[in-house]
Amino acid sequence: MTLYMVCPYCNKEETNVIDSRKNTEGSSIRRRRECPKCDLRFTTYEKADIGLMVQKRSGEIQEFDYEKLYKGIENAFGGLDINDKKLKTLVDNIHNEIKTNGNKVKTEIIGETVLINLKETNKVAYLRFASVYKEFSDASDFEKEVAEL
Ligand SMILES: [Zn+2]
Repeated sequence: MTLYMVCPYCNKEETNVIDSRKNTEGSSIRRRRECPKCDLRFTTYEKADIGLMVQKRSGEIQEFDYEKLYKGIENAFGGLDINDKKLKTLVDNIHNEIKTNGNKVKTEIIGETVLINLKETNKVAYLRFASVYKEFSDASDFEKEVAEL
């Protein structure tokens, strides 16, 4: 059987599957492959990727939107001193942290994770994000945060 998978050693485009086996639950398949050109062997794992799902306050579940997270954080930094690379690193760190909560996370968890990270990174961006996404229980909470700056 030949399935298209590039050889990691010589980059030949087709490699042969010499063994396939499912894990006990059947949720992943391990394939042992051999390159017909360089004869080296390697292993690939095939696994269903359902991605990260977000549960909104309403209970509705939707796919996690990286662009939306990026835009939200980018807006919080609008006019502040941060370059694209730093912003991307920050967003990726936040994204990775969110993923540690499993495949399904609540909107609140995402909001809190962003807030914690922004608080450490930039107080102004933090407050901007907070004022948009965090529902402060009352106005005095927000004023208290501002006063702490
Ligand atoms: Zn090869």
